[in-house]
Amino acid sequence: MKTILVTGGSGFVGSNLCYRLIEDGHRVICLDNNYTGSLDNVAPLLNHPRFTFVEHDVIEPYECPEKLDRIYNLACPASPPFYQGNKSIFTTKTCVLGILNMLELAKRDGARILQTSTSEVYGEPLVHPQVETYRGNVNPIGIRACYDEGKRCAESLMFDYHRHEGVDIRVIRIFNTYGPYMNPEDGRVVSNFICQALRGEDITIYGEGQQTRSFQYIDDLIEGMVRMMENEKGFTGPVNIGNPGEFTIRQLADLVLQKIPTTSQLVHRPLPSDDPTQRRPDITLAGEQLGWAPTIPLSEGLDKTIAYFREKLGM
Ligand code: UDP
Repeated sequence: MKTILVTGGSGFVGSNLCYRLIEDGHRVICLDNNYTGSLDNVAPLLNHPRFTFVEHDVIEPYECPEKLDRIYNLACPASPPFYQGNKSIFTTKTCVLGILNMLELAKRDGARILQTSTSEVYGEPLVHPQVETYRGNVNPIGIRACYDEGKRCAESLMFDYHRHEGVDIRVIRIFNTYGPYMNPEDGRVVSNFICQALRGEDITIYGEGQQTRSFQYIDDLIEGMVRMMENEKGFTGPVNIGNPGEFTIRQLADLVLQKIPTTSQLVHRPLPSDDPTQRRPDITLAGEQLGWAPTIPLSEGLDKTIAYFREKLGM
């Protein structure tokens, strides 16, 4: 049994990770400020003897009363409508001060720390599919910069603490992920399209819908995260964790419409600025180093996600 801190533990990815770690027999401390996370997501765990929820913002240092073996740093709003606008400065602080505080904690306890970085570090990619050696094409002053540059800076801090402080680090770059425990109001494309179809509302395609994304089901991500954290060969990454199946946003809308009988119509809305044109992970490295590859195709993952939202929305 390991003592594990999960920051952002009541969010979409965090809650799925907490369930997995409890199932694996660990002691889990779940830390969140509940800005985009929700206690509802971890409600069945609240009375579990190996689970503790702590309301805390990672921008502030956290003096954990227990000695930690592992830290998963997930805390950060991840959906553009929640990380941009008047939240953008908060987002940069969450990325940068958050990882600084967690790295100090890892150093204090000799704990291993995993940073959830992102495909956004590649920005508007000029190399396709994206390999880890590609350094990216981020607009440093655009509306996505608070997140993209925040996550890039967090990677740089991870490697500096590794080089200069001897901290045991792991860095993964997560590509678009969907599944149960997503917030219906999150504003991301998969949750939006499913909830819009279930409610009979317009399906909002930003731009022409020709931009592509590669969608990974949550269970595949969680398996990749745990394998990365527990690899004993000192493989630090960064490593891409995503599903290379690439779809246009229009194709995703059509697929959702095939699966949900609805009166919803497709409508177009302006494309947000700096919205990446294409995104697909090269996952050769994850295969070589972790023996990992995704196993759940989009159609199957969508069925599970639709079932979750039907229940959540009571439809
Ligand atoms: N998108 C869309 N309609 C929506 C929400 C998003 O067409 O209701 C588009 C968005 O412009 C982007 C893609 O879907 O091109 C993925 O958006 P999301 O916010 O899910 O993730 P990210 O842009 O961070 O990859």
